[in-house]
Amino acid sequence: MNREQQLLQNWQEVQLALCAACEKSGRSPQEITLLAVTKYAQDADVLTLLKKGLLTHIGESRVQQAITRWSKPEFAAFATVKHLIGHLQHNKAVKAAQFFDFIDSLDDFSTAALLDKHVPTGKTLRVLVQVKLTARETQSGLPLEEARQLVKRLRTLPNLRVCGYMAIAPQGAPESELRRLFSRIRQAFEADFMPGMERYLSLGMSEDFTIAVEEGSSLPRIGSKLFTDDSQEVV
Ligand SMILES: *Cc1c(COP(=O)(O)O)cnc(C)c1O
Repeated sequence: MNREQQLLQNWQEVQLALCAACEKSGRSPQEITLLAVTKYAQDADVLTLLKKGLLTHIGESRVQQAITRWSKPEFAAFATVKHLIGHLQHNKAVKAAQFFDFIDSLDDFSTAALLDKHVPTGKTLRVLVQVKLTARETQSGLPLEEARQLVKRLRTLPNLRVCGYMAIAPQGAPESELRRLFSRIRQAFEADFMPGMERYLSLGMSEDFTIAVEEGSSLPRIGSKLFTDDSQEVV
């Protein structure tokens, strides 16, 4: 199998798994937007999928790395919706406001206010608030109740549109715990973001996206599963 065939097979396996998760939970696959995480991917691999028309939403975790890659003419030729999924440092907010369509990892008001101030005229910057699912994790994000308060404050900023929550599951958590954590954030999401609004619940990565979709995720973030090379995998 050549590299292109491998990438297409990966993509198809992800689609099949998404469809199966939808079927199991009575959801429509049209409710799900695949966020392809390209942060570790080779340029050539990303271009292969772009040329096949398979990447619509992409996620990068570093501001400068994203700008460098996606400003190259061969990448800029494709219209993609660009998400920042990694922690946003205050001093990168101005560039981020100009470059990204979505900031999925917002967790403080002062960075949000800075973003709001620097969004180019005529653009609406979408943001998701990052929720920390468990106290023991050291990752960024806010405990759920603080995240909900931040959502209310963000609604006062005219150039941002707050449209959901993002969370990273604790590594190695058993399925029952994942379901419990995901379902708690989903309840808050349903209460804070009404149907009919533009809204996204971004839960799930390569290891746990089927569970996340079954529990209501509409924007799973998938990197390694798309760009892996089966032939090098150690079983
Ligand atoms: C890297 C990353 C992902 C993708 O992880 P995979 O396990 O490679 O699918 C998803 N979300 C965030 C926030 C990430 O940093």
